[in-house]
Amino acid sequence: MCDSCKFKNENWQFKAGEKRARLKKVTLYGMIPGFTVDLKLCTLCERNLFYQGELKFIQENELLEQEVKQNRQSYCRVKQQAR
Ligand SMILES: [Zn+2]
Repeated sequence: MCDSCKFKNENWQFKAGEKRARLKKVTLYGMIPGFTVDLKLCTLCERNLFYQGELKFIQENELLEQEVKQNRQSYCRVKQQAR
């Protein structure tokens, strides 16, 4: 299930064409300070994220953002310090 479509009530498999529906792992760096957020997105949402940029994507996915903040342990990892 695509993490973004899930909260928009969209049928991602139908949208992408059932055979081509595939989930891709993406990492957001700006949603929660100090953490990276791992999401699984369908091809279409991944493309949206790419073209819109992270900030706009998060604004358009308020429910997803709430979900991530309430379930940090399943989405977030502590951001590694660059050395
Ligand atoms: Zn999607």
